[in-house]
Amino acid sequence: MTPFTDLAMPGPATLKPYTPGKPVEVLERELGITGSIKLASNENPLGCSPKVIEAAQHAMQGEFFARYPDASGFELKRDLCAKHGVQPEQITLGNGSNDILCLLAQSLLGPGRASVFSQYSFAVYPIATAAASGEARIAPAFAPDTDMPYGHDLAAMRGLIDDSVRLVFIANPNNPTGTWLQPDDFSAFMADVPADVIVVLDEAYHDYQPAEARINAEAMLAQYPNLVVTRTFSKVYGIAAMRIGYGLSHPDIADVLNRVRQPFNNNQLALTAARAALADHNFVEQSVKLNTAGMAELNAALKARGMTCIPSHANFISFGVGYDAAPVYEAMLREGVIVRPLAGYGLPQHLRVTVGTDDENARFIKALDVALGQAGA
Ligand SMILES: *Cc1c(COP(=O)(O)O)cnc(C)c1O
Repeated sequence: MTPFTDLAMPGPATLKPYTPGKPVEVLERELGITGSIKLASNENPLGCSPKVIEAAQHAMQGEFFARYPDASGFELKRDLCAKHGVQPEQITLGNGSNDILCLLAQSLLGPGRASVFSQYSFAVYPIATAAASGEARIAPAFAPDTDMPYGHDLAAMRGLIDDSVRLVFIANPNNPTGTWLQPDDFSAFMADVPADVIVVLDEAYHDYQPAEARINAEAMLAQYPNLVVTRTFSKVYGIAAMRIGYGLSHPDIADVLNRVRQPFNNNQLALTAARAALADHNFVEQSVKLNTAGMAELNAALKARGMTCIPSHANFISFGVGYDAAPVYEAMLREGVIVRPLAGYGLPQHLRVTVGTDDENARFIKALDVALGQAGA
């Protein structure tokens, strides 16, 4: 019998599935422990705005569960237009911003077509490319001893663009490194990229960036019809479980994506939660403040222990331990602290930790000390 994997298109047949951060329940089941913490998936340690929970509870009444959601996402789009100064025709709503990345690949790639992205960039880019049976072209990142270690090298990315390239994925700040682009460098890149190459600027961590480091992507959308900006509600807004994100683009690109997407790719609870999340500016501000303080504290603690921290504008820090990090990761699990190993990203000596609450950060440092003691012994 033909193995079913041989029946798949070439991309799906060869692609490696995404490895998520280990859930607390899984760890506790495996080790028979309790009271563990997860700092592995860049979730908001404050949870979400209480207004989100209120809005969700208010919505879940009567026929709520029986009715299909609003396929147009009319009200959320109206709120997003006000936030970004765009028209509704420029918005594509996705089941997480992951959905937007996949819709772009599905619409633009296929056999004979390629995407370009950087080494050490988001794991979904190769998956979305392979799922569409496109070719992935990976540009070498900046070297560890540069100003932006492991960061995106836009010149190297530009060098990989030829007639078969339809899509460029750029995460800013990037996951798993936390590195960022200089706005002027990105503007120069956009001016130089051929107009028929779609550039995706994935801004999942935008709110965590200092204001002066941010790219004014809204302004650039008007100038570059080949630019797509993606945002998510999974990080600073704290509703990762709802699976909702969006793309901003020229109406023609949004038109294509909206033809390809499932008509009901956002459930009604997600649409409701996203609106409430968007409205609570205080919660976002409080989350960013906690992150900035925690980031400084963790950076100092890691450096004091001889770790090499990659500079980060996001809500996590990736750090090199100087040797294979797997035993450190395993020892931390036994202490009930889940971080993210980065071997799958080609960084076997690095771990990524999400900035948590003050208590979680202290717990992380304590577990790290135990783990380093064991690994070094
Ligand atoms: C977390 C993350 C996303 C968001 O994913 P969702 O599907 O919206 O949850 C997108 N891009 C990057 C780089 C991320 O780290």
